[in-house]
Amino acid sequence: MNFLMAGGAHLPPVGSSGHQKRTVLITAVLLSLGIAGALGAVVSGAIYSIVRTADELDETRAAGAAASALESLRTQMAGTVRDNAFWDEAYRQLTSANRDAWLIENWGFPTLDYPLYDMALVIGPDDKPLLHYRYGKPMDVQPGEFFDSSLARLVERARAADGLQGNVYADFIGTVQGPALIGAARIRPFLQGIPPPESYILIFEKDLDAKAINKIAQKFNLSGLQLTDSPVEGTVTAPLEDVDGNAVGYINLPVERHGTQSYERVRPLIFGAAAILLLLITGIGMIGLLSVRSLAKEQARARQNSLHDHLTGVLNRPGLSEYVENLAPDVCSSAMIGLYLVDIDGFKAINDLWGQQVGDKLLGAVATRLTRDLPLGTTISRLDGDQFAIVSLVDAAGEVSHLQSAVSEVFAEPFTIGRCEIEVGVSVGVTETVLARANFHDLLRQAEMALHQAKHGSDGAMVVFHPQMEAELFEQAKLEQQLIDALDRREIKVAFQPVVDARSGHICGVEALARWTSESGPVAPDVFIPAAERAGLIGILGSQILEETVAQGSRWPGLQIAVNVSPLQLRNRYFAGGLKATLDKHAFEPHRLTIELTEGVLISNADEAKRSISEIKALGIKVALDDFGSGFASIGSLRQFRFDRVKLDKSLVASIEHDAQAAEVLDATIKLVTALGIPVTVEGIEDRYQAEFARDAGTHQLQGYWFSKPLSKEELTKRFLGSSLVERAG
Ligand code: C2E
Ligand code: CA
Ligand code: CA
Repeated sequence: MNFLMAGGAHLPPVGSSGHQKRTVLITAVLLSLGIAGALGAVVSGAIYSIVRTADELDETRAAGAAASALESLRTQMAGTVRDNAFWDEAYRQLTSANRDAWLIENWGFPTLDYPLYDMALVIGPDDKPLLHYRYGKPMDVQPGEFFDSSLARLVERARAADGLQGNVYADFIGTVQGPALIGAARIRPFLQGIPPPESYILIFEKDLDAKAINKIAQKFNLSGLQLTDSPVEGTVTAPLEDVDGNAVGYINLPVERHGTQSYERVRPLIFGAAAILLLLITGIGMIGLLSVRSLAKEQARARQNSLHDHLTGVLNRPGLSEYVENLAPDVCSSAMIGLYLVDIDGFKAINDLWGQQVGDKLLGAVATRLTRDLPLGTTISRLDGDQFAIVSLVDAAGEVSHLQSAVSEVFAEPFTIGRCEIEVGVSVGVTETVLARANFHDLLRQAEMALHQAKHGSDGAMVVFHPQMEAELFEQAKLEQQLIDALDRREIKVAFQPVVDARSGHICGVEALARWTSESGPVAPDVFIPAAERAGLIGILGSQILEETVAQGSRWPGLQIAVNVSPLQLRNRYFAGGLKATLDKHAFEPHRLTIELTEGVLISNADEAKRSISEIKALGIKVALDDFGSGFASIGSLRQFRFDRVKLDKSLVASIEHDAQAAEVLDATIKLVTALGIPVTVEGIEDRYQAEFARDAGTHQLQGYWFSKPLSKEELTKRFLGSSLVERAG
């Protein structure tokens, strides 16, 4: 497996937020495109409709013209037949001897050049033609052979019409030469009422040849008129119907299609407009696309910013959280994740000393060095303030600890910021878990617990989380809460342990010791004093103890009283002032009070401690070094701080009876401190041997269970002070 990502980290695509702007833009662009598209569709629809309607109008008009031309041909033929068949003279001639000559003269010869008919035919009652002339000459062909069969029906109808009705028939008919116009009527006198003899039928025929069609076209203003056997596609067509209603031919009129013509004329303009519209649509689309792109970029940038720390450039808390949450699913099950929580010690002091600008630069330098020096597979982030988190991925359990030395090395060299050389100490909380089950908030909480331990415990600067920590921290939190309540109710009491003069064996003073009985029983000061220090309650606790001690001490005139003070209390620059106020309040003489300080005060914040100690001493109060011999306090520091007394730790006394070397160490220590001119108190005296040894070695004062355990003020008064000291009424 390979986790080749250091420092920076890949992060997943955008979540839900920030999409709105983009969605709105995309919607606007799509809407514009939609509107433009719809506009295009509507306009082309309208143009199509106009063209279609104009064309249809043309067709209808052409069809109407063709129909009326045909109708007018038939009407004209009917008129010609009527004029000749309903004629008194003709009727009379039918029975005259001159009949044939008359027929030829009046109807036969005119067929040569008369414009309205080209053939004249008279059929007698026996169906025989009496006259059969065409183009001025008698015809050889029989009428039945020249015309199609509809002739018989036409003759039949003309014959069936009684003379009174005067019916004339005009139709089209097929001939051996093509379609022709034909008219037929029974010959009769012009005036009605004279009954006709046997029926004679007059028939005129007009050829519809090219010449005739041309004439019709001219007369009816039908240019392009055509006669065909079948309808012609794309023209307006009208059938030439015979007496039976059968088409014997068709006339066809080309349609002008003014709509289409107009459309073709304006087509370039329409195409131009369409091109402009298209350009507009494309423009909108392009602008939209570019805007969406730049918006997406902007979003990505904003997101990048929101997940990174602006000061150092590494991931911030949300960034790291997202990184870790996104790691979990796609990595194999044995992979482990480690979280190192690195807290710079005393960063506030660095800020105070060098200024915030230097502090900020230091944070940047730390981030840079972490990113540069830690191995691949680690991700750096600054959570807040002076806290960095390092996430490391490894193949198997236990490997996470390899990073520990790497992290320590990062801070081994001092940081150079401008002209300042800054040594940076760190406390580190570490936790490790199976990546597949990792949850950022749990990891962080565990690392925080470990860090808490690293900062406050004695285990050193780097602490690895273990599950009991959770229970311990819970207990600690509970204890701190109980302590807060106890301080509120002033439940912390003071016990007094006598201190005796080594020569006389008489009581010469007392040490005030804090006592607390919580709901769950007595709590040792070794437990609740550190708890108060951690919880920032030591100031209140200290002042309550001091108040109570001084109040009580003022009722024991002449008695020396010692009070323990935590190094943290000394950091308060008003400590000495508060002390003086308390003494004044109870009219307690300062020279009767001794402040006991442990050597911790000498190690951290030596300057502040020195200032406070000077102030206390200036008030006339004595200062004693407590628990000497249990730690590192040097002879040099005894002189430097000008302690009024040194109290030797009980561990120096414990085994002197059976351990010659221990006895020698105690003896030498007493002699050494005494040689510096500082009075010595030996603590933890539990038997006569220890008491006498210490006295013989030169100790001035002794304290321990051999003389008395710490007592309540009442017991102390009763057992030690009743006879020798008169307690003031109070
Ligand atoms: P310390 O200042 O060294 O106090 C002396 C401790 O030794 C007391 O424990 C006392 O009860 C114990 N002791 C006295 N004689 C003997 C003896 O003969 N044998 C043994 N084995 N022990 C003896 P205590 O009261 O439990 O106090 C523990 C520590 O808590 C004190 O050590 C002191 O450092 C701290 N402390 C107590 N009261 C206060 C207080 O009001 N303020 C502060 N800051 N610290 C306090
Ligand atoms: Ca003490
Ligand atoms: Ca002590």
